[in-house]
Amino acid sequence: MNLARFPRIRLGHGPTPLEPMENLTKRLGGPRLWIKRDDCTGLSTGGNKTRKLEYLMADARAQGADTVITQGATQSNHARQTAAACAKLGFRCHILLEDRTGYTDDAYRMSGNVLLDKLHGASVERRPGGADMQAEMEAVAERMRGEGKRPYVIPGGGSNPIGALGYVTAALELVNQAAEMGLKIDHLVHATGSAGTQAGLVAGLVGLNSGIPVLGIGVRAPREKQEANVLALAQRTADHLGLPPGTVRAEHVVANCDYVGQGYGIPTRGMVDAVRLVAETEGVLLDPVYSGKGMAGLIDLVRKGSFPEDSSVVFLHTGGAVGLFGYPDAFDLPAEAA
Ligand SMILES: *Cc1c(COP(=O)(O)O)cnc(C)c1O
Repeated sequence: MNLARFPRIRLGHGPTPLEPMENLTKRLGGPRLWIKRDDCTGLSTGGNKTRKLEYLMADARAQGADTVITQGATQSNHARQTAAACAKLGFRCHILLEDRTGYTDDAYRMSGNVLLDKLHGASVERRPGGADMQAEMEAVAERMRGEGKRPYVIPGGGSNPIGALGYVTAALELVNQAAEMGLKIDHLVHATGSAGTQAGLVAGLVGLNSGIPVLGIGVRAPREKQEANVLALAQRTADHLGLPPGTVRAEHVVANCDYVGQGYGIPTRGMVDAVRLVAETEGVLLDPVYSGKGMAGLIDLVRKGSFPEDSSVVFLHTGGAVGLFGYPDAFDLPAEAA
C-alpha cells in the first residue's frame, strides 16, 4: 500500500493519542477499553473529517478549484471542518445544511457547529429534510460556474474513495502505534454514518492483513443498508489503493444499527447516559449525534458480555463535541437511577 502517491495537504495534528480508559474499564468491569483520540485532530476543535479533508482538499487544489461546496445536517461536524480547512487553505466555502431533525430552537439552528461554520467565513444555505442534497449541490455548482467560479463538490461526510484514504492512513497509524506500545487490539469500534470512516479503516486494516475486526455502530440507516454502503465504498477505496480485486469482502464489514433510536440526530437515553458516563469517568467529551450513540452501543455490548474480559477494545473517538451546544435540552434529563 503506497499512500504517498496520493496528494495530501496536512491539516491535522498527528498521530492522535491512543490512551487507556482505565476508569471506564473499571466501572464496566469488562474488557480493557482504549480510546483513539481523533477528536484531537486540531482543526477547529477536531474530528474525523479532518483526515478525509487532507486528501479531498489536495484534490480540490490539484483541480484548480477556488470554491468548495459541501452538505450535511444542521449540526454537521463535516461542514464545520470543511469550513475551517477552506479558511486555512484560501478557498471560498459554501455549505448546504439539511434540516434532518425538524428542531426549530435557536441552539440547534444557530449554535454549536453552525456558529463555527460562520466564524470560518462559510456561506450557509438551508434545505428541508429529505431534499436530494447531492442534486442541490450540483445545482449550486452550476450556478457558480455561471458566475466564473471554479467549484469543487465534496459529498456529505467527505465519503468517497478519496476522502476514505484519510482512514486508510488512520489504520496504518493505529497499527504502528499499537505495535510500538505492545498493544494487541482485539476490536475497533466507532460510530458509522456516511460510511467513509469505516470503509477506509476496513480497506486499510484488511490491506495490511492486521486481523483487527472493525465494528461500526450505526447512527442513521438500518443494518443491511449501512453494511452495503460501507462494503461498496471499502471496495472502491481498495481499488483506488491498487489492492488486488476481492481483497475486501462482505465478512469484513459489520455494522450494528440497534442504537439509532428514533432517527438521525434524535437523542436517545443511551446516548445521554454514555455522554455523561464518559465525561464523568474519563473527562472526555463525546457528541450527541455520533460518538455518544457509538459509545452507547459499546457500553451496552460490554454489559451484555459481547467481548471477552481479557480482550482489548479500542473506541475510535470521531469528535463532534461542539454539537453538544446544539442540544442543551437533551442533557436536562435526570441522572440514571444507579
Ligand atoms: C461524520 C462523523 C462520524 C461518522 O463518520 P462517517 O465517515 O460519516 O461514517 C462519526 N462521528 C462524528 C463525530 C462525525 O462527525
